[in-house]
Amino acid sequence: METLALLETLSNAFGVSGFEDDVRDVIRPLAAAVADEVRTDVLGNLIATRRGRSPRTLMLDAHMDEIGFIINHVEDTGFLRFATIGGWDARVLPAQAVTIRTRDGAFARGVIGTLPPHLLSADERAKPIPLESLFIDIGAGSAVGVAERGIRVGDPATLAYPFQTLPDGYALGKALDDRVGCTVLLQVLRALAGRTPELTVACNFAVCEEVGLRGARTAAYQIDPVLALALEGTVAADVPGVSGARQVTRLGHGPAISLADRSTIVRPQIVRALERIAESRGLPYQLKAPGYGGTDAGAIHLSRGGVLAGGVSVPCRYIHTPLSLLHLSDVEGAIGLVEAFVEEAHTLVG
Ligand SMILES: [Zn+2]
Repeated sequence: METLALLETLSNAFGVSGFEDDVRDVIRPLAAAVADEVRTDVLGNLIATRRGRSPRTLMLDAHMDEIGFIINHVEDTGFLRFATIGGWDARVLPAQAVTIRTRDGAFARGVIGTLPPHLLSADERAKPIPLESLFIDIGAGSAVGVAERGIRVGDPATLAYPFQTLPDGYALGKALDDRVGCTVLLQVLRALAGRTPELTVACNFAVCEEVGLRGARTAAYQIDPVLALALEGTVAADVPGVSGARQVTRLGHGPAISLADRSTIVRPQIVRALERIAESRGLPYQLKAPGYGGTDAGAIHLSRGGVLAGGVSVPCRYIHTPLSLLHLSDVEGAIGLVEAFVEEAHTLVG
């Protein structure tokens, strides 16, 4: 499958943190076709391993989960109350289309209800609506109607925007954080078909990153890597009104190498190795401005006695909102840089 088609399939797949079944079902056969071993662990991480000449292992990680919601109450009138899963900005939620996944794996559509401006006072219009006031409307009319659609307390939901391509290599998707990382990881794994890498390569498609880097923590313990890279869709803010470091990354300037974020300060030898590999092969890259966000590298580098862990990210505008925007050249760039890193990784660990 081409990178664009893969990104579309993965972005559209449902996979709220803790409910990654659907996206994992998309990834598993694609990984199994090229890996020596594929397994799902207790928490739901999908670990695909390609054996190398050495049993020492390079861990590559991308998280499958996306931020979403969980239904926590059904009103008698048929409206659904919900709690958030992961870091939403309450300002962007009103009037958004929603997909709810039932316990049986069916999908129901709805909208996060909001009052029309006609009914709002000037004061109400100036303020964001508090999260606890929001509700989902599925047009059910009663709690019985909700039950008849198979929807119950505990069902997960997410926003419902399909992947779209734009001219000149841009694309929009609901879950580019981190389905773009999953796309890069799958393409790197597929490039290893028919080749034996020096280090064993364990590809972890992680669960529950968005709620505290949880899946990567237990996966790293099992994999016991000597080296690791987290592959992410990261903040790009190269938009009007934002300057300098607050842009974090920029679209179309290549994959972003992590220096330091809120979860880890990357060991300088990893940063230098990624820079050297990119420069020696003429691959584009940029540095992610320090101080923003966090990735699974934060959990992985603290595993056992410590792991050399870095990060390569694809810049995405508007992450943690209904639609993110990226440039496909940065996706291809990330695939190329990570493939090159896999080839040279053994030289970093003696
Ligand atoms: Zn992410």
